[in-house]
Amino acid sequence: MEKGKTALIVVDMLNDFVTGALKCERGLAIVPITKKLVEGCRKAGVPVIFANDSHIKGVDHELKLWGEHAIKGTPGAQVIPELEPKESDYIIEKRRYSGFFHTDLDLLLTELGVKTCIMCGLHAHMCVRHTSADAYQLGYEVVVAKDATDSFTKEDYEIGIKYLHDVYGAEILSTEEILDRLA
Ligand code: ZN
Repeated sequence: MEKGKTALIVVDMLNDFVTGALKCERGLAIVPITKKLVEGCRKAGVPVIFANDSHIKGVDHELKLWGEHAIKGTPGAQVIPELEPKESDYIIEKRRYSGFFHTDLDLLLTELGVKTCIMCGLHAHMCVRHTSADAYQLGYEVVVAKDATDSFTKEDYEIGIKYLHDVYGAEILSTEEILDRLA
């Protein structure tokens, strides 16, 4: 994890996932540590990229399975106020689980000279996993902030983290360990 070649990707820390349509208590519980991670990365000069669901009502495939959530332009699709993006951050709007699928995330990371993606947010076994899959397949190293990532249940979280480690060789670290390495 080289400071000048690393970015933080914050997945779906949106109103609808934390307090809205698909809210979950475990998502709410990681807000303070995620805030610490985001602020620590900004301070270290590590780019902060929010990968946000931004669905088209009545069109997006995913809405059939999960019901309406994070509809583009609604408060539900905005980053939670505690993590409010700053001008120096980047926002990628996605319509599928992966932050890379039909978005310009790969282009942005290339332009920023990024080789390692630190993943955090929701959900470890879904959008974090699919975003990590594409990161891995595109040749990025994947680091997961284990205390700033979660899922609906402990079981889903553990399955997600194990998969990220076993299949993408992701390094599973705490926020403290990550910020120490970036210091
Ligand atoms: Zn979605």
